[in-house]
Amino acid sequence: EDSRRYTGMVEDCCCDYETVDSINEEVLHPILQELVATPFFRYFKVKLWCDCPFWPDDGMCRLRDCTVCECPENEFPEPFKKPYNGLSTDDMICQEGKPQATVDRTIDSKVFKGWIEIDNPWTYDDETDNAEMTYVNLQLNPERFTGYIGASARRIWDAIYKENCPKYPSEELCQEKKVLYKLISGLHSSISVHIAADYLLDESTNLWGHNLGLLYDRVLKYPDHVRNLYFTYLFVLRAVTKAADYLEQAEYNTENPQEDLKTQSLVKQLLYNPKLQATCPLPFDEAKLWQGENGPELKQQIQKQFRNISALMDCVGCEKCRLWGKLQVLGLGTALKILFSVEEQHPLYQPLQLQRNEVIALVNLLNRLSESVKFVREKGSSAEKFIAGH
Ligand code: FAD
Repeated sequence: EDSRRYTGMVEDCCCDYETVDSINEEVLHPILQELVATPFFRYFKVKLWCDCPFWPDDGMCRLRDCTVCECPENEFPEPFKKPYNGLSTDDMICQEGKPQATVDRTIDSKVFKGWIEIDNPWTYDDETDNAEMTYVNLQLNPERFTGYIGASARRIWDAIYKENCPKYPSEELCQEKKVLYKLISGLHSSISVHIAADYLLDESTNLWGHNLGLLYDRVLKYPDHVRNLYFTYLFVLRAVTKAADYLEQAEYNTENPQEDLKTQSLVKQLLYNPKLQATCPLPFDEAKLWQGENGPELKQQIQKQFRNISALMDCVGCEKCRLWGKLQVLGLGTALKILFSVEEQHPLYQPLQLQRNEVIALVNLLNRLSESVKFVREKGSSAEKFIAGH
């Protein structure tokens, strides 16, 4: 049963909580779960060994499980690859001892027709090919509890909140600053929900399961954290549907025609969903922002702040957290680019262009948020009962 505490419109959005829950559970969540498992969407290109521009790396990872397993050379789709560049099998390292999860240091080229290399003004990532880029099979590296806690983790969140998006004073009604804060807070809630949904309950027996106490303590106890999760979900969903023309026509070639047709079909189901169009056609209305007289400066300032947040991801001292942190911040940066960096009225109007990795990050981020919204809806009342009983 569901003790619905969240009613009415999601703040600053155009749909109500009940509609979001029902579209998510009936349509979007099932489509997204299938979509992120396709060969196109399950490989993410990432530089995991990063130089933190702010603090020397302290790698505070307690569990072995914190490390990431990347892809063996024969695993990721042919068109993603660069011609063999002379790496020996010594370069294939598997941190978790799974044969299917060795590291491949091979990197891709821009062989993907229709996908270009283009800068994202909202992110800090250097996407140019180099020997440190690897492919990660996201399906083998679920976002979950890793034991990354304490000063190192806290320092990152503190830096994000204090330096980059201070909680907006309630009397200051600058919507744009509120948006940045809410996006980060929503992402933070989603990360906490994934930790609670897949937690190491007993280290001696390696028992994993739900940690409802943690779900309550970090998310449910603070209604704002839940509201911001819904806000972020709708914001990213709006970005995906706004980019529908682009995403529909994009090239999803992995040289596996059957799988690629399935990917295309799922993308269309996501973009042109009749139930979504009927009940929540405009999940977020970006046209309302940047209208004030200092709109352009404000946008630049917020863009700079978001780029700093993106740079901070290189300082996350746990490999798997860094992987998902980088992916999700790139996903948010892609949503920001879609919603705010394509100005049709501008004299130098440039049509939207996305990189393959941006599309992969955007869809995987939407899937993570969709999982979190579902988990909070399903487990919310049992978590509250669990807390009441303790
Ligand atoms: P934290 O979650 O660290 O929160 C710190 C403070 O931020 C809280 O005290 C509160 O004041 C504020 N806060 C918390 N949530 C919100 C919110 N939703 N909105 C606004 N303010 C909030 N750990 C894992 O086990 N697995 C992971 O995959 C993982 N990924 C991470 C990715 C990143 C980018 C970072 C920075 C950390 C990640 N961590 C991960 C660590 C995890 O997020 C926590 O930092 C850690 O579990 C310690 O939790 P905590 O109780 O100290 O609170």
